[in-house]
Amino acid sequence: MKTLIKNAWILTMDQALSTYPQGMLMMEDDQITYVGDYDALLAEDADEVIDAMGGLLIPGMVNTHAHVSMIPFRSLGDDCPDRLRRYLFPLEIECMNASLVYEAARYGILEMQRSGVTTFLDMYYFEEEVARACDEMQMRGVLGETVINFPTCDCEEAYGGLDYSENFIRNWKSHELVTPIIAPHATNTNDASALKAAHEIAKTYDTLISMHVAEMDYEMKEFRENYNMTPVEYLDSIGVLSDRLVAAHCIHVNEHDMKLMAARGTSVAHCVGSNMKAGKGISPIKEMVQHGITVGLGTDGPSSGNTLDLFTQMKTTVYAQKTHYKDRSLFKAEEILKLATIEGAKVLKMDEKIGSLEVGKKADLVLIETNSVNMFPIYDPYSAIVYSANASNVDSVWINGVRVLKEKQSIFNQQEIKEALMQEMKIFKQRAIERSKEL
Ligand SMILES: [Zn+2]
Repeated sequence: MKTLIKNAWILTMDQALSTYPQGMLMMEDDQITYVGDYDALLAEDADEVIDAMGGLLIPGMVNTHAHVSMIPFRSLGDDCPDRLRRYLFPLEIECMNASLVYEAARYGILEMQRSGVTTFLDMYYFEEEVARACDEMQMRGVLGETVINFPTCDCEEAYGGLDYSENFIRNWKSHELVTPIIAPHATNTNDASALKAAHEIAKTYDTLISMHVAEMDYEMKEFRENYNMTPVEYLDSIGVLSDRLVAAHCIHVNEHDMKLMAARGTSVAHCVGSNMKAGKGISPIKEMVQHGITVGLGTDGPSSGNTLDLFTQMKTTVYAQKTHYKDRSLFKAEEILKLATIEGAKVLKMDEKIGSLEVGKKADLVLIETNSVNMFPIYDPYSAIVYSANASNVDSVWINGVRVLKEKQSIFNQQEIKEALMQEMKIFKQRAIERSKEL
């Protein structure tokens, strides 16, 4: 099946940042076969022709850090100090189960697809369920089971995630859309032997490893007192700081940390919405990029940043950096869109497959309409996407050649997905309300 998209303003996000204002893209099944100016001869070959009506066509966006199944927590205790230990951990142990993870994953995937995210890295519990949701909903997922130093909702023993991960990785290793990884929760919630064991599993099965790094104030204090090191130095001292590592947050990193990360090839998932909402600080991504560290954008869980879309993250990232350094020219719009697309793909080591619109790559595409009131006028298409657009401007989304969003309508039944989630959330919601009264 050959599908042609014509009359699109194509931003390829390739190495040269090639653009085609009157562009045409051809895909055959799951692969891009042509990107360039309109070619009438080639167009004759198409089985299906889609008129983009001057919309902006970009690569599918890559969310490099999420906990998609935390949807039930959204808007709960948002302004509460230490929400993690007061709400999240206890409610997870009490109420999270396989069915709730699955239904929340379906809902979150729907939300991401509607906002132009075609690939996401996820770490949570019952990750098999998230994989199943990706498989059913044509979503590209890089998924890791959480490893943590206490019993969890899906394992009665501490560090149960290690065994879970091995089975999980074996089960999904050759799936077209799901890429299994391993995900220790954080530097301060795993001991050295668990972190090393997780890294060994990543090496054995040739996967990524992802965790929260240098996110918390108390984490910094703990490592300084216990080891006289930063979390990054500590990870390096135990051999876990490697090119397999996707380090989420990295708010509190110093010059030496960044040099180490660059030397080891460790990449960063920058979760600005979550960092700033919690008042944790501004991550020095300007310096990271200068050091040659690959940085992508992440939403974090829907309870941390309240959204799973990267339009919000792009805007917040650029506002935060410009404000922090008092420099309007810092991080131009095209550089920000790179973080959300090709750089995110590099973080996940998938840039040969996704992240830009180039012949031979997978057909993961997002069409952003330019008819809505907020999208006029457009002098610079990158600016329009980063500063003017929001998730509601996403018109169509293709993942692996399948159009999952068509003229703002999902191919999946949104009402059915929401009702199924509400059904599974009943006990959770009741306990969440009770808990907020107790505290
Ligand atoms: Zn997180």
